[in-house]
Amino acid sequence: MHNNNNSSDITTVKRKRGRPRKEKPDACFRCRCRTTPEWRKGWVDREGVSLHVPLCNACGLHNAKQRKSYQLSKELNSIYRLLN
Ligand SMILES: [Zn+2]
Repeated sequence: MHNNNNSSDITTVKRKRGRPRKEKPDACFRCRCRTTPEWRKGWVDREGVSLHVPLCNACGLHNAKQRKSYQLSKELNSIYRLLN
């Protein structure tokens, strides 16, 4: 008995390349602009709950800075409370 392995069978199977692209957000949460070199993740604190929002490049950087200082002040407050 002969095994007729056709290598052509393998080449016909095409693999899907690349990851499925995520949908781009409609507009920046903060400034409502629709064109940006890069979309960034942002957070908005509402009633103690952090919400995930899409931000443009500029707003994303601004948000990240704010977020850092916000968390820092929060930590400092908790430290002061422990001391007092
Ligand atoms: Zn923006």
